[in-house]
Amino acid sequence: MANLSIRSLGKTYPGGVSAVRDVDIKIQDGEFIVLVGPSGCGKSTILRMIAGLETITTGDLDIDGRRVNDLEPGDRDIAMVFQNYALYPHMTVRANMEYGLKNEGLPKDEIAERIAEASRTLRLSDYLDRKPRQLSGGQRQRVAMGRAIVRKPKVFLFDEPLSNLDAKLRTQLRAELKALHARLNGTFIYVTHDQVEAMSLADRIVIMSEGKIEQIGTPMDLYLRPATRFVAEFIGTPAMNFIDATVGSDGHSLQIGEQMIAADAPIHAPAGTLVSVGVRPEHLHRGQDHAMHVKLKTGFVEQLGADTIVHGEASTNGTASPLGVRLQGVHMPEPGSELQLGAALSDLHFFDTASGQRLNT
Ligand code: ADP
Repeated sequence: MANLSIRSLGKTYPGGVSAVRDVDIKIQDGEFIVLVGPSGCGKSTILRMIAGLETITTGDLDIDGRRVNDLEPGDRDIAMVFQNYALYPHMTVRANMEYGLKNEGLPKDEIAERIAEASRTLRLSDYLDRKPRQLSGGQRQRVAMGRAIVRKPKVFLFDEPLSNLDAKLRTQLRAELKALHARLNGTFIYVTHDQVEAMSLADRIVIMSEGKIEQIGTPMDLYLRPATRFVAEFIGTPAMNFIDATVGSDGHSLQIGEQMIAADAPIHAPAGTLVSVGVRPEHLHRGQDHAMHVKLKTGFVEQLGADTIVHGEASTNGTASPLGVRLQGVHMPEPGSELQLGAALSDLHFFDTASGQRLNT
């Protein structure tokens, strides 16, 4: 298994598209790293550069201390699992898994042993003589994973492997992937646009926007202390709410409409700076007894059973801004009625409106 060091990595495609810029990531042996971000942010490009399927324009890529920028894909000791499985349709499951190993010239016994072990792990033992078209989507993706496992690579790369599966199967395979990672203790680098998938799988998440890294951290780092407004909005459903405010003259308090709230730590911005105050729907509670309060004019209500999501408009500043709250249990507010809500100081996130950078550090 392997460490990876990615330094100042950049990619400009022929034609001039700058897809990835200044990417630095240190990946520890055995880590499960998830690259997440909206479509087009450069995730797949990074994965493909690691795999050797795309040339690296600038920067360095080391695997176990060895620069591999110019190594052929086959010489990097990496296995990749694709969204569309990329299985050979005319070959059986066994033949698909054996293919790479035979090319490597491994002894027959060794091949048989590896296939047997991988198919036990992935519950494919009963399907080894079938062709891919005789399998379900989930089983095909397991075969693709099996083909990667049997090679015992230093690094496993996954490019949106669960995107073609339905929601239930995705959840199930997520759990299997996590178990597989624990069992193999391998270095996994996984690309997805789905923040829930990223949160549930990753040891650390690399969140990207427009070719650059916004933040690297554990799922809880990103949830509790998003470094930018972009991260704050991307992680969590329903998305974080934002309310406009201004830094008060003492540099310590925030003016939100009629309210002044004292921040619990210095705000690193001059008086008068425009601030977006972020609060997650699950951190708004009913009642008056809170550090920050807001009235919600009820609109669309989602009754989910375990909780109720009420969407509507906030009226803190005279101007109405969209606001959502997640209330535990069953609630049935009348459309158009007002809910008095509030949040604790420790659940508020302050972002410089102009730059999007976090202010309460
Ligand atoms: P993601 O995986 O986050 O969806 P990609 O890495 O696929 O993003 O793409 C990043 C950017 O690079 C996008 O603007 C995309 O259009 C562009 N891009 C991807 N592949 C190519 C290519 N082969 N040639 C030119 N531009 C590309």
